[in-house]
Amino acid sequence: VEPDVRRELEARVGSAHVLHGDTTEGPATDWTGRYRGRTPAIVRPGTVDEVAAVLAVCDAAGVPVVPQGGNTGLVGGGVPLAGEVVLSLRRLERLGPVDQVTRQVTAGSGVTLSRLQAHAAEQGLRYAVDLAARETATVGGTVATNAGGSRFLRFGGTREQLRGIEAVLADGRVVRHLGGLEKDNTGYHLPSLLCGSEGTLAVVTAARLALVPEPTHHVTALLGCPGVAAALEVGVSLRERLPELEAAELFLDEGLRLVVDRLALDDPFPDRWPAYLLVECADDRDPTERLAAAIEATSVGDVAVGVAAGRREALWRYREGHTEAMNLLGIPHKLDVTLPLGQLAAFAEEVVRRVRDLDADAHCWLFGHVLDGNLHVNVTGLTPGDNRVDEAVLTLVADHGGSISAEHGIGTAKKAWLHLSRSPVELDVFRAVKRALDPRGILNPNVLLP
Ligand SMILES: Cc1cc2nc3c(=O)[nH]c(=O)nc-3n(C[C@H](O)[C@H](O)[C@H](O)COP(=O)(O)OP(=O)(O)OC[C@H]3O[C@@H](n4cnc5c(N)ncnc54)[C@H](O)[C@@H]3O)c2cc1C
Repeated sequence: VEPDVRRELEARVGSAHVLHGDTTEGPATDWTGRYRGRTPAIVRPGTVDEVAAVLAVCDAAGVPVVPQGGNTGLVGGGVPLAGEVVLSLRRLERLGPVDQVTRQVTAGSGVTLSRLQAHAAEQGLRYAVDLAARETATVGGTVATNAGGSRFLRFGGTREQLRGIEAVLADGRVVRHLGGLEKDNTGYHLPSLLCGSEGTLAVVTAARLALVPEPTHHVTALLGCPGVAAALEVGVSLRERLPELEAAELFLDEGLRLVVDRLALDDPFPDRWPAYLLVECADDRDPTERLAAAIEATSVGDVAVGVAAGRREALWRYREGHTEAMNLLGIPHKLDVTLPLGQLAAFAEEVVRRVRDLDADAHCWLFGHVLDGNLHVNVTGLTPGDNRVDEAVLTLVADHGGSISAEHGIGTAKKAWLHLSRSPVELDVFRAVKRALDPRGILNPNVLLP
């Protein structure tokens, strides 16, 4: 940026909050290491007014901006790949009181998911969205990506929790609708539009979020299954019998081996199973017996159950450790996709074959929030810039009637394939909305739209 723009930015947020040089390297690289950019400056406003002032300066000067929260996004959407200014929202950490009557709370964009969850728990409530990056991922980032997570099955994703939003438009004007009315049928629903817009339409500064009661009893079970199709059948059967089922996560034996090995964990079972399903129920009446009876009615091989928090966490570690363990193998290609449930098992077989045929060095790992039809296809062994596997996997997904992004978004990683999931008319509408809200195209200009 020009020196006069930098001076103006420093005047708006204080020079201590405009970073440059070596300190910008971390925030310029994504969590996986696949996307490495560089930036002339990281700007860290501390209030919504400062965000507005910063954007007004950038808009007037035509300086492109990448909003950033916890930088745990997995599609290269929050890093400055074309030399953009990084607008870090982490200092917007204000967390309002929990309203027990409406069961809502207003959270600043920089509040981490784990802090929000702890805040709700103090009041006997919880925030329904949960994911393994909870310690770092922010409210703003999860709203911007419409994050899904492990409890989507029961509560939906971030969009379903959103009751209001505060955001700053590219030109610095603030849209604020945080009243939290449950019924409010007054035209376009801006929270829904901005949720999942990946920083391309506005910068989210706060969100009004619904909370749900914290159940008194939780039970987690890890089930050894003879294959993906069998695991899915078990999952569907449990869902039919157990309204309190809130998570159903799939992983395969190879993934478990890797996690056990890399993270130095004990094996969950003496025997190995081709596929594993991790399920969790939560209710005010102890659901353990009901879960046991429902499992009894299926063809599950081995079962490990956790009721105490430590034991439940240990079981979750097998699933949540996948992302971390995979990163230790090198930079993965992360392809988070949805399949129609009826196609998922056939896809799981075919994708492994396709990847192997493509390149003998490539290795395909599968896990995911399986009852949502959501698989995380991770491919290791290829260079970060080699897009052949992305092309092959995403095309296969489209051939099976799936979506190229289940919950991580499009970012820069998948924009070349957005046409596989969206029609030309839909893309025209997307572009028209983008032009209307960000006419100079300064907000995350290299993300989402091809
Ligand atoms: C171990 C691990 C597990 C994960 N598990 C899940 C999971 O189960 N489900 C899931 O959905 N995701 C998951 N993710 C992905 C990631 O955590 C989510 O995408 C999360 O929502 C990103 O939040 P963040 O604050 O880190 O955002 P960032 O990574 O900083 O940004 C993500 C995107 O949002 C934009 N953005 C960020 N803040 C704002 C803002 N305030 N206003 C406007 N735009 C903004 C950025 O420009 C970027 O496009 C996982 C990631 C990791 C590392």
